[in-house]
Amino acid sequence: MYIRVMRYKTSSKGRNRNMNLKKEAQALNDYAQALRRELHSHPELDHDLPLTEGVIVRELEKLGLDELKSGQGKGHGVWATLRGDRPGKVLALRADMDALPVREETGLPYAATNGCMHACGHDAHVAMLLAAARLLAGARAELAGTVRFIFQPAEETTDGALSMIQAGALENPSVDAIIGIHTGSIWDGLRPGQIGWKSGPMMAATTTVLAELRGKGGHGATPHLTVDPIVMAAEVLSQLQTLVSRETSPFEPAVVTFGKIEGGRQHNIIADSCRLSGTMRTFSHETNSFLQERLRATVEGVAASMRGHGTVEYVGQTPALLNDPALSFRMRDILTSVLGPDSVQELSLPSTGGEDFAEYLQKVPGAFFYHCSTFGDERDQPHHNSRFDVNESVLWTGVAALAAFALHWQEVSQ
Ligand SMILES: [Zn+2]
Ligand SMILES: [Zn+2]
Repeated sequence: MYIRVMRYKTSSKGRNRNMNLKKEAQALNDYAQALRRELHSHPELDHDLPLTEGVIVRELEKLGLDELKSGQGKGHGVWATLRGDRPGKVLALRADMDALPVREETGLPYAATNGCMHACGHDAHVAMLLAAARLLAGARAELAGTVRFIFQPAEETTDGALSMIQAGALENPSVDAIIGIHTGSIWDGLRPGQIGWKSGPMMAATTTVLAELRGKGGHGATPHLTVDPIVMAAEVLSQLQTLVSRETSPFEPAVVTFGKIEGGRQHNIIADSCRLSGTMRTFSHETNSFLQERLRATVEGVAASMRGHGTVEYVGQTPALLNDPALSFRMRDILTSVLGPDSVQELSLPSTGGEDFAEYLQKVPGAFFYHCSTFGDERDQPHHNSRFDVNESVLWTGVAALAAFALHWQEVSQ
């Protein structure tokens, strides 16, 4: 499909504004860094985020916004609304707030000591969005339309976005488009400070699979008097390896991984049951439905053929993250204009990672972007690692991306 995209052109007045915007975002780097460190020292999990909520509310209260709502979602979500002086549409900017149950080993002076850690960079997301809110609150006279700032709990545990949508984060006024950013080292090939963009499928649908195999326990010395669920599990796992390799199209990406197997208590006891838990990653609804059906049939069929009983439950599903093409190209053009062509890079392939930002995209068009905050040395660690860190010197480019998009996304292409 060919998509015609008009380039955003700047007038000389626009160019001045862009230069200022870049400088304003750079000037906010220290502010974003201080906030990130404060949040990093006090990581909180899931929906239980009172300290994080407190920092967000404290900072937003300084900005004289038109609306500020805390205690949202399942207790600690926040949203705020800024109305520009010029008429226009409603744009939501979203940051996730939660940390992980990882014991921090960075050795940083502001490292967390409570057994939890911001090991996915959500502390930086909150800091960048608060800095963008500060920049935009100061640019109200130039702002067309309304900006809704959404601070969302429980991304890692995947129901945070839904809890905010159900609480009304996309309503009053009705949100027309939504933008989100993920910082860190997720995408190879990006340079520190660069924004990675991609039109269409960007992240996979995730489905958590819980399977149980039931047999008949007994003595390990007399297997013929039992029905062994562990042997059944071994057969089921081998069979499941053929789903993606033999049953789905090689042109349709899919992953089936079982990361946990649990059964049995002692070497000479045949167990009554064995449980498997895994994750499926897909990009199309058809492939997801097909794999769910075939996985269930495999577990039930293999178990039955071995005189046992197999059941499958699907829990914790998030949809695939599909970026709106027009908004993705719009970000490319705006950032090219504001920060220069080197500031953006198109991503060639989607990721099989999941992200509950996809839930918002089921309701309104939007786009998700990667913000590269690597160092280029041994400090670069994978997300969710106990030594994960964020290069704070480039926080300002994320601030600039969010603020520039909010200021320019509705301008008519020339
Ligand atoms: Zn994460
Ligand atoms: Zn994350």
